[in-house]
Amino acid sequence: MSYHQLVEAQREHFHSGATRSLENRKETLKNYRALLSENSQQLHDAIYQDLHRVSDEAHAGIRNIDELLGGKMEEWGKPVEVGVETPFDKNQDKAYIVREPLGVVLVISPWNFPLICSLPSISALASGNTVILKTSELAPHYSKTMTALVKKYFAPEVFTVVEGAVPEVTELLQERFDHIMYTGNPTVGKIIMTAAAKNLTPVTLELGGKNPVLVEPDADLEDTAKKIVFSKMFNCGQICLSSDYVLTTAETKPKLVEALAKVYKEASPLKDNKGFARIIHERHFDRLSTLLSKTNGELLFEAEERQNREEKFLPPRVYGIKEDDALMSEEIFGPILPIITVKDFDESLKFVKTHEKPLGAYIFTKDPKKADRFVRETYSGGVTINDVMKHAFMTNVPFGGVGNSGMGKIHGRHGFQAFTHEKVVLVRNDLDIQL
Ligand code: NAD
Repeated sequence: MSYHQLVEAQREHFHSGATRSLENRKETLKNYRALLSENSQQLHDAIYQDLHRVSDEAHAGIRNIDELLGGKMEEWGKPVEVGVETPFDKNQDKAYIVREPLGVVLVISPWNFPLICSLPSISALASGNTVILKTSELAPHYSKTMTALVKKYFAPEVFTVVEGAVPEVTELLQERFDHIMYTGNPTVGKIIMTAAAKNLTPVTLELGGKNPVLVEPDADLEDTAKKIVFSKMFNCGQICLSSDYVLTTAETKPKLVEALAKVYKEASPLKDNKGFARIIHERHFDRLSTLLSKTNGELLFEAEERQNREEKFLPPRVYGIKEDDALMSEEIFGPILPIITVKDFDESLKFVKTHEKPLGAYIFTKDPKKADRFVRETYSGGVTINDVMKHAFMTNVPFGGVGNSGMGKIHGRHGFQAFTHEKVVLVRNDLDIQL
């Protein structure tokens, strides 16, 4: 089937109304749940082969579906009666907000959390859309496994996976979709948005960026170091919310480096540590090696183990750098941690404010006034105070970036509603309709 035929088959299915009823949507989700629970080990093994990481991604999907099937689909999707506030005569009027699905949704996912970043497909199906999922060519084991499983559990007009790299996505983007949800880097985000603009297709963009970590002199450095190192070891720092760089004072820097080195040494040998993943692909290994060859920073810590391109094993390093260093030229997305020395807290705030808005921003301090100023005076997708990344683990709040780190929200109610339109219905002359 060509991409055009596939999209048309899904559109026809959507227009038949088959995806609309609550019963059908529940059946679709039960199917998805079966796919994840009956094959969780296979999915886990595929992700391990791609990333050398122990993964619980299938269970994140199952939890998501259980929440929806446990009453949230009804709650988030039901028509809401609203008061009629109008300057006109309003006798015998009733008004509602009805949530309607959008149609054919394209979900494009990256390699770093290949299954978790495919999960917006659950929200889109739950709200009554059909879905085409494009998996990443850089996670080939996951991609092949998911393609085969979706084929086994779903009719292609409801949900299907498309594999391939840039030429395939480029061809796919010639088609008209009713919503595109893209997770990946900001450069490709612009390509997606440009393609969507042709058809005025709305987009949700979950992008990356450089997440700052402010370490104030009053911070508990042992705790700070453990939390920063976790974000650099887990998935080898290939996380959209990982600590990208640290801002701290000259006085705090050596104490922080000592604390970081202690945590890394305790976690060594890293080759055998199941919490330390590998770089996804030689291409990214080479990208990081190039950054390392270009940095003018001072090497402050280096693990004893040697890097190995064949095994895509890149041990952690900590550098002291200046603002214009190569390590500040792009999102690091790896186990390298640069530290920039600042005069004081005001300089840190100014630094964060004058750079692109990141997906996550973090501060370690015991001073509530500083934490408060950090929230009010910097701009980012979300903030965690005295930890990194954790705000994104909450399932009851919206998740998403702002500016260069993206647009639109996912997770829970916000994910479900992202794939719907709020349609206002005004009923006059006392007509009794059941919505
Ligand atoms: P990637 O290389 O897997 O690309 C993502 C998707 O875009 C893939 O499906 C790929 O085939 C497609 N793609 C690549 N080049 C394209 C092109 N020229 N035209 C059309 N499609 C193209 O993943 P990546 O971009 O390296 O992923 C890492 C980035 O994703 C980081 O910036 C990270 O911060 C971000 N990210 C963000 C989130 C979030 O929730 N905000 C989550 C995970 C990753």
